[in-house]
Amino acid sequence: MHKNYDVIVVGAGPAGLMSAIAAAEQGASVLLLEKNKKPAKKLAMTGGSRCNVTNNRPVADLIQHIPGNGRFLYSTFSQWNNQDIMAFFAARQVALKEEDHGRMFPVTDRSRTIIDTLVTAAKDAGVTIETNTTVEKLLTAATGEIQGVRSAKGDTHAPCVIVTTGGITYPGTGSTGDGYQFAKRLGHTVTPLFATEAPLISEDPFIKSGALTGLSLQNVALSVLNKKGKAEVTHQMDLLFTHFGLSGPAALRCAYFVNRQLRPAPGEAVLLQLDCLPETSHAQLSTQLQQLFRDNRKSVKNALAQLLPDRLLALFVDQLQLTDTQAKQVTEKQLDALVDLIKTFPITIKQTIGLEKAFVTAGGINLKEIEPKTLASKLVSGLFFAGEVLDINGYTGGYNITTALCTGHVAGQHAAQFAGYW
Ligand SMILES: Cc1cc2nc3c(=O)[nH]c(=O)nc-3n(C[C@H](O)[C@H](O)[C@H](O)COP(=O)(O)OP(=O)(O)OC[C@H]3O[C@@H](n4cnc5c(N)ncnc54)[C@H](O)[C@@H]3O)c2cc1C
Repeated sequence: MHKNYDVIVVGAGPAGLMSAIAAAEQGASVLLLEKNKKPAKKLAMTGGSRCNVTNNRPVADLIQHIPGNGRFLYSTFSQWNNQDIMAFFAARQVALKEEDHGRMFPVTDRSRTIIDTLVTAAKDAGVTIETNTTVEKLLTAATGEIQGVRSAKGDTHAPCVIVTTGGITYPGTGSTGDGYQFAKRLGHTVTPLFATEAPLISEDPFIKSGALTGLSLQNVALSVLNKKGKAEVTHQMDLLFTHFGLSGPAALRCAYFVNRQLRPAPGEAVLLQLDCLPETSHAQLSTQLQQLFRDNRKSVKNALAQLLPDRLLALFVDQLQLTDTQAKQVTEKQLDALVDLIKTFPITIKQTIGLEKAFVTAGGINLKEIEPKTLASKLVSGLFFAGEVLDINGYTGGYNITTALCTGHVAGQHAAQFAGYW
């Protein structure tokens, strides 16, 4: 085989750009191919166009916040992690700032700063970037090993190819799932793909009536219950009621668990439970309400006005038919029912927003077929994967870009070593 490059990287998102940089810094000659006319179209949209580029938590916490196979990343993060991302940008005079929950953004509040820095670093390292080039196929020898890629411009040969084509959400950004097809053709399996970090859709009457549309609750606890009625996961964060269901950080984080239940049973409802006052126990709230209601001539809703937003209270007292009841008239049974509603308000979800508009794709290249240390394919010599194309998904909060950059760096380094340039 006549070799044009040591390493070809397919897809110039954060994973591809960082793979190319890391491989080139090891001395490899690198070609980075991108189907769009500019690199990193999806990255430009992230974090509300501010790019939540990483998260400043310890590595063990990062893994906890990557519910889709985070533990696979122990080896990746032991080689290159969020601290290295921050050092990478600091070395290039890009200041980052920390916001709530450890989220890191460029101080410019512009994704462009991150993209420009990655592209400049790639060019400085000697990477050849070709845009407007869609890879159509990976080339392999009769003996199975990687030989390069085919695009409309012809064949380009290299002993190593890193696939960093991303997932399949927001396909208008170029992430249309091509990498899954490349991998399948070479014998890899792809685990079922589904939407995660997506708003939740509910047909419950209180959603359909719009009673809570636009209401945002701070620091509430949203749980996804399993078939036995036990909480599979609980997220204590902010929540937003919309005209179609639930959004905001707590809802987005529950989407993965909702869709895991729905995939084998589409159309069935998944039960969620909302605790509006997670810092107050059931017993404490019961005592608090008893004291509040004693000899209180106000309506139940007005008596509780300090506790919860007006529209939520209106919904609860309406459901319990307490709208016209004075607080002091509330019976023990009604008080118990009220406490139950406040602490375990049930919400049924039948679907989430689909892959087209989800933030992240769950599922991807089967990790059983990938070497955790190098991110090389166990099936095809010279083939590597990094980023969202892998069966890894994190919560919003910078965990997905962290995964993309770190797996990218590790795959790039090992690909360069494989190609013989270390
Ligand atoms: C609206 C939105 C907001 C988000 N906000 C955040 C956030 O703030 N923080 C966070 O951590 N995560 C966020 N994410 C998720 C994050 O953007 C992705 O996880 C991350 O971009 C994945 O990086 P990647 O390099 O693996 O893939 P991608 O960024 O999807 O890049 C893949 C690239 O490959 C190219 N490509 C695909 N096929 C081919 C082909 N055949 N030939 C050539 N090129 C090809 C694509 O055009 C694309 O440029 C957000 C996602 C969305 C949609």
